[in-house]
Amino acid sequence: MAQNHLMASRCMIILLIMMSLLLSMVCQSKPLTDSLYHKLLSLPIADILHVDSESTRAASVDFGLIVREIPAAVLRPSCPKDIVTLVAFAYNESSIPFTISARGCSHSIQGQAMAPDGVVVDMMSLGNKRRGTTVLWSWSLGHYADVGGQQLWIDVLEETLKHGVAPVSWTDYLYLTVGGTLSNAGISGETFRYGPQISNVYEMDVITGTGDFLTCSPDKNPELFYSVLGGLGQFGIITRARIALGQAPKRVKWVRMLYSDFSDFTIDQESLISHHGRDQDEALDYVEGSLLMHRNSDSWTSFFSLSDRLRLMSLVTEHELLYCIEVAKFYDGRTQTTVDKALEIILKDLSHVPEFMFEKDVAYVDFLNRVRVEELKLRRQGLWNVPHPWLNLFVPKSRIADFNTGVFNNIVLKKNITTGLVLIYPMNNDKWDDRMSAVIPDEDVFYTVGFLHSSGFEDWQEFDLQNKEVLLFCENNGIKVKQYLPNYNTEREWMEHFGSKWRTFQESKAQFDPKMLLSPGQRIFNHN
Ligand code: FAD
Repeated sequence: MAQNHLMASRCMIILLIMMSLLLSMVCQSKPLTDSLYHKLLSLPIADILHVDSESTRAASVDFGLIVREIPAAVLRPSCPKDIVTLVAFAYNESSIPFTISARGCSHSIQGQAMAPDGVVVDMMSLGNKRRGTTVLWSWSLGHYADVGGQQLWIDVLEETLKHGVAPVSWTDYLYLTVGGTLSNAGISGETFRYGPQISNVYEMDVITGTGDFLTCSPDKNPELFYSVLGGLGQFGIITRARIALGQAPKRVKWVRMLYSDFSDFTIDQESLISHHGRDQDEALDYVEGSLLMHRNSDSWTSFFSLSDRLRLMSLVTEHELLYCIEVAKFYDGRTQTTVDKALEIILKDLSHVPEFMFEKDVAYVDFLNRVRVEELKLRRQGLWNVPHPWLNLFVPKSRIADFNTGVFNNIVLKKNITTGLVLIYPMNNDKWDDRMSAVIPDEDVFYTVGFLHSSGFEDWQEFDLQNKEVLLFCENNGIKVKQYLPNYNTEREWMEHFGSKWRTFQESKAQFDPKMLLSPGQRIFNHN
């Protein structure tokens, strides 16, 4: 009897071991089989293809620190041809296609630059030397820059400034790659006037999912050009972009104004962005806005002097929630004597809380590179490499008041967990090109709202839940928001996101990446 029992438990243990082995074989997807590895290692890129755990682990995380997907290998290209070799092999010769993702700085939040079991192309290894920033001039374009897809915007700025010129459209943070922001849109306070960064590109070199190296522009391969801009890395890897430049200003008048009334805040913001001609003297160069609360004061106090901070804090205590408009007017030697008057005229009829306007005069580079100061501060405090459950939305102007009531007042204030910056500022629809893949609301003016949360490693889910609640509120109340830096899991959600652009998006995928090799981390065509 005891023997029978022993036999039965042995059989059970063997069965369990076999089952777990079987399960691990099923779960462990191994697109890069041994024979595939051998073929890859026979390619001229073998010595720059890294399969060691240190390399693959480094490519399995991003700024969000929420998703973790381990690639099978990391390619560290030294020139675009290395990328062509990899993609062409995956497309033409590999019996089992494997996925490939370009990785800029991996400043994504939800694993968008990852390639689970595929190959991550570490764009930064292209370096600054071969494909840096070259400033050129032509009769038709004026000044422009040819820039490597792996270049950081800060490097583009430094190089172009040597020629007295600079790009006109920026992101708040400059340690992002050109290829990475052009795959999304590239937005900041300049967007209302100059359009997003994708509206300031003349031409690109792109390696498509078929391994073809193509130059594209509005005249040459236009379908590829428009698909790639805002295309979430789905159609090709950008190795060069030709960027529009303007005369670089020297300094900046930088102003912040506080509001306790949301309606005054939006009326003023919309009035400020209504002057948006590129050559219009009475237009501002930058308009943003944010939500000020006690809870997120770490993210907004540094602009203000110590004595102003005390006044500000008591105003926040009085109202719980304040809104801040932030504007900038750039100037140089030519406009030095007129800038103050111009600014005074632009700001004269605004309805901010009296006595709550603050002004600074800073160098142009310091203004553009302002987030770097905050980054270094957070790094010193050990608060940079923490989870970032961000949510970025484009909200139609017609529903921004409902958004304020439903989200800022009834979710954010009540939950009282929001940390980090909350951005809110409007943009003009006509500065975006509808032929591009980027998706925005169908109204003349729409707001970007960014919840740039930082959390602990244990509690990011709480923030994620709040983000979901915000999205649900919008859905239940018919507020047709579009996610910026979108994150969806199902085809239905992506179809809804792209709306009328979905068909073109699918057709472009079929044309430029028919085997669906590129940017699987976006989870548009590669679902789990
Ligand atoms: P990655 O995260 O590495 O890649 C993003 C996507 O682009 C992936 O799908 C990847 O496969 C693809 N990709 C990367 N390189 C290429 C390439 N060369 N060709 C084709 N596809 C490519 N965005 C704004 O618009 N405005 C802001 O002000 C702004 N501020 C930010 C501040 C911080 C602190 C952070 C972390 C992000 C900010 N972002 C902002 C978001 C940023 O634009 C995105 O994270 C974007 O993805 C750029 O990051 P990256 O260069 O590291 O790209």
